[in-house]
Amino acid sequence: MIGIFGGTFDPIHYGHLRPAEEARDQLALKEVRFVPAGQPPLRTRPVASAAQRLAMVELAIRGIDRFRVDARELLHEGPSYTVLTLESLRRELPTTPLCLLIGMDQFLGFERWHRWPEIPDLAHLVVLRRPGAVLGTLPGWAQPRFTEAIADLRASSAGRLAFLPVHPQDISATRIREALARGDSVSRLLPETVLAYIHTNHLYGQSDRGA
Ligand code: ATP
Repeated sequence: MIGIFGGTFDPIHYGHLRPAEEARDQLALKEVRFVPAGQPPLRTRPVASAAQRLAMVELAIRGIDRFRVDARELLHEGPSYTVLTLESLRRELPTTPLCLLIGMDQFLGFERWHRWPEIPDLAHLVVLRRPGAVLGTLPGWAQPRFTEAIADLRASSAGRLAFLPVHPQDISATRIREALARGDSVSRLLPETVLAYIHTNHLYGQSDRGA
């Protein structure tokens, strides 16, 4: 069973890395693939370039057991759609259980995603708790898919929905970009290697003097 963790990663931070590690361990995932989005469709253009966001993901996951980066969304122009990424992964891994790891905020907006009704048939949805995002009633399409048993995820290649009780991380990339622009410390919010890269490359309003 493989975890797929998509995102803008502008920049990657512990709110991505820690829940992903907990998901890897709770679900005994063979690997977690971080898939940086080229142009995320539902938001404004990222601040860092695709190459810079990829470089930060590579630095952040270096040395972490079973974490990998998958750059397929960066190889083509235009918006990155999860449904297309999952179709492409499915062609390579026709029977492997795939767990699409998403934060609760993303799950709450899931019905705005491109071709969203097809996504649960391509992967399991595994939703990670995130501060500020609270689930109300489960929508009708989700109810028959819901499970609390990890064994149910292993038993099929796609189609189920699970909520993982990961430790909440009150961190967002927006908050990090804003803090950096103000000159506030973000050292507890993301890996040192990523922070050094941000300084060296003058990202988010940084000069390299403070690196
Ligand atoms: P931004 O603030 O720029 O919108 P972000 O911090 O939400 O960025 P993304 O790269 O957009 O980060 O998120 C990628 C994925 O990681 C999404 O599924 C999102 O829900 C999830 N995620 C991000 N931060 C957290 C967090 N603190 N806890 C749980 N999931 C998170």
